[in-house]
Amino acid sequence: MKGTLKVEGKNPEATIRGLFTKWLKESRLSAILTPAYSDAGTATVALFSNPEKLDEAAPLLPAMGVNSASIVAEIARESSPNAKVGLFLRPCELRAVVELMKLKQVLPDSLVLIGVDCPGTYKSAGFRTIRGKDADFDNKHAREQSGYAGNVNFRMGCQMCEFPKPLVFDLNVGFIGMDPDKELWVEAATDKGKALLEGVELAEQDEPEKRKKALEGLSASRKAKTAKRIEDLDKLMLGPEKLVEYFADCLNCHNCMKVCPVCYCRECFFDSDTFQRDIGEHVRVSLRKGATRMPSETLLFHLTRMNHMMASCVQCGICEDSCPVTIGLATLFKKVSQNAQKEFDYVSGRNLDEPLPLTTFREAEFPKVGEE
Ligand code: SF4
Ligand code: SF4
Ligand code: SF4
Repeated sequence: MKGTLKVEGKNPEATIRGLFTKWLKESRLSAILTPAYSDAGTATVALFSNPEKLDEAAPLLPAMGVNSASIVAEIARESSPNAKVGLFLRPCELRAVVELMKLKQVLPDSLVLIGVDCPGTYKSAGFRTIRGKDADFDNKHAREQSGYAGNVNFRMGCQMCEFPKPLVFDLNVGFIGMDPDKELWVEAATDKGKALLEGVELAEQDEPEKRKKALEGLSASRKAKTAKRIEDLDKLMLGPEKLVEYFADCLNCHNCMKVCPVCYCRECFFDSDTFQRDIGEHVRVSLRKGATRMPSETLLFHLTRMNHMMASCVQCGICEDSCPVTIGLATLFKKVSQNAQKEFDYVSGRNLDEPLPLTTFREAEFPKVGEE
């Protein structure tokens, strides 16, 4: 089921809120997780269950401080037969949810995946200043589409994002390539999605060519810019000592790991006894080398994290946004994960049925690094 949904009062955000109201009032959903504005006007995420509260929901809010898949990992570890929660999420967030489902960290039964187009987001820190007092900011962002590809104020992850439309969803709401003052694109891919569309007046049709072209154009432009950025990074990264240099400012605070939506181990290796060294052990290491940089094991941390993340990284760049010394993690993880996933013909979050690369074995795999 797919088609266009009429937008009332040139307000696409209010039209989407109208859908939320219908779904909650008719008990089709027990709650909906969506971007929202806090009372202080900052960008946040909230779980709405009372339709009267939906004025605070901001489904088109173009700022992101957290990849909401991390929140889903907290609330959907167990299934709850009485709850049906709609996740109104951006493409990189839904891709991370799909990876978490494959990693058995999120159970799908109580969830309905509702995607929304995303042309890019600003960092949540400082967004209040960018938005100012403009109550129509989110709608303008959806309306003024010519600047998406070249917006250098978007988060670095977004400047390299090639998936402006969700890849896996029960229902998707789109505005890219549409005139969102007049209509939105709505598409149900599963029975769960179709159930939400019952009673919603759609002008059924195929996805407009103009929309397909706009999505493809944005994706192509981002791919070209990303290739150039990775080429520059490759020049900078010649040799292992350059990697040490790249992380020279690292404080070893582990923020990048804590915010990563697909960082999946329940018990982190870096919190294990292996890293709880007493002062005597530190002195022994120091005596052996003459001096050791403190805090220690910074590079080991990053190499281990890269190794753990490369197959499931959704390239959201939230790790870079959370780094207090702005190390270029978004480009580095884009490069590493893209290369690794290409080797396995895998795209994180592309398909729920596609097995995780490291859980499968093929006899003729990687002959170039092993015995033929
Ligand atoms: S990485 Fe992509 S999907 Fe995620 S917020 Fe940025 S543009 Fe949107
Ligand atoms: S490693 Fe960084 S870019 Fe990749 S999923 Fe985690 S937070 Fe996002
Ligand atoms: S967030 Fe930045 S400073 Fe902290 S561990 Fe990660 S790279 Fe290092």
